[in-house]
Amino acid sequence: MSLIVQKFGGTSVADPERIAAVADHIARTRKQGHGVVVAVSAMGKSTDDLIRLANEVASNPGGREMDMLLTAGERISMALLSMAIIERGIPAVSFTGSQAGIVTDSAHGKAKILEIKADRLQEALDEGQVCIVAGFQGVSTGRDITTLGRGGSDTTAVALAAALRADVCEIYTDVSGVYSADPRICPRARRLTEVSFDEMLEMAATGGRVLALRSVEFARRYNVPLHVRSSFTWEPGTWVRDLGEDRNMEEAVVTGVTHDASEAKLTITDVPDRPGIAALVFRSLASAGVNVDMIVQNVSHSSLTDISFTVPSDEAAKAEAVVVDQLGTIGADGVTVDSDIARVSIIGAGMKSHPGVAATMFETLADNGLNIDMISTSTIRTSCVVRRDDVERAVRSLHTAFGLDA
Ligand code: ADP
Ligand code: ASP
Ligand code: MG
Repeated sequence: MSLIVQKFGGTSVADPERIAAVADHIARTRKQGHGVVVAVSAMGKSTDDLIRLANEVASNPGGREMDMLLTAGERISMALLSMAIIERGIPAVSFTGSQAGIVTDSAHGKAKILEIKADRLQEALDEGQVCIVAGFQGVSTGRDITTLGRGGSDTTAVALAAALRADVCEIYTDVSGVYSADPRICPRARRLTEVSFDEMLEMAATGGRVLALRSVEFARRYNVPLHVRSSFTWEPGTWVRDLGEDRNMEEAVVTGVTHDASEAKLTITDVPDRPGIAALVFRSLASAGVNVDMIVQNVSHSSLTDISFTVPSDEAAKAEAVVVDQLGTIGADGVTVDSDIARVSIIGAGMKSHPGVAATMFETLADNGLNIDMISTSTIRTSCVVRRDDVERAVRSLHTAFGLDA
């Protein structure tokens, strides 16, 4: 008997009809003889609704109480789904993250899973029950309820699959797999048959929100094959797995184009160009818990330089305050915040061995009149920061230029 972990996102369980369809599918899987563990998201947009409510009663809600509130969304869907499965004559039992033994650190809103004590789930599985686990949540070592960050139910699912040594983790969502670009903005995007962990990691890190970044990190570390597929058509989707060396060498150099409009850019102007300045600035930002992403420092003229970096938009005000505090110490002129930016990235394992990929990217953007603000690269990715209003056009033109159009 194999063990399958299935994850259902918010749209997949948005209303009673959807819950019934999902329950039918889970019951079918169980009847085929597989052990089944399910991670479920909150129904539809209910997490957004809860955040809106919180903002109506408090000016800056967060931390412990916010996590207490948001985890209620998944508690509703897990119980309803469990009831619907029992209704179909299949024994099922629901668990909160805490009951499922998901232990995290205490970083509310972005907690990291430290350990999964899976004995309770294992017992229920041994009794032949389907286990329904609330996604996106855990309990901290200090015994408070935590959440794993937006999209965190993916992480719950993959972490459970790793802890229980499942044969596969199926991620059911509202698209039929991982596409060469977000199909909502790039109509010519193609569904990929398979993607390597490394490529998927880069895609998730640069805006391909079909999988949460942490979930891909888990999958790669514990070598859990992922199957991303649709809960509407149930057709086979995209496999994310270790592709090793058996990659088809004829494959396209670029696998996918991603975009991310969730960051803002800060620029510190006229910074003295001497050792220790960048260390001071970025240590202060780290101490304040700001997640810095891209960093660019220009060559200095007359011993003054500019340093630009990007942070999540909702951390821009905090980052600005940290830098303003440091201006006197570092002797810089000032700091500006630009919120109208977005990042477009091309990803592909073939980039390692093919020169000229970045050049083609820059030419394509230039031919379309798109100015590049910042550039960053890894061995299998090139990213450019452009104006936010231009980013969808940038995605489509790069998708065409790299021969990805369906
Ligand atoms: P769920 O609620 O099931 O977790 P999400 O909204 O988090 O669903 O993720 C699915 C969405 O991800 C799709 O509706 C799609 O718009 C978006 N998306 C972004 N990039 C991609 C991509 N490369 N391939 C597929 N979907 C993508
Ligand atoms: N409900 C949470 C969110 O909307 C977690 C998830 O859906 O993965 O972010
Ligand atoms: Mg998601």
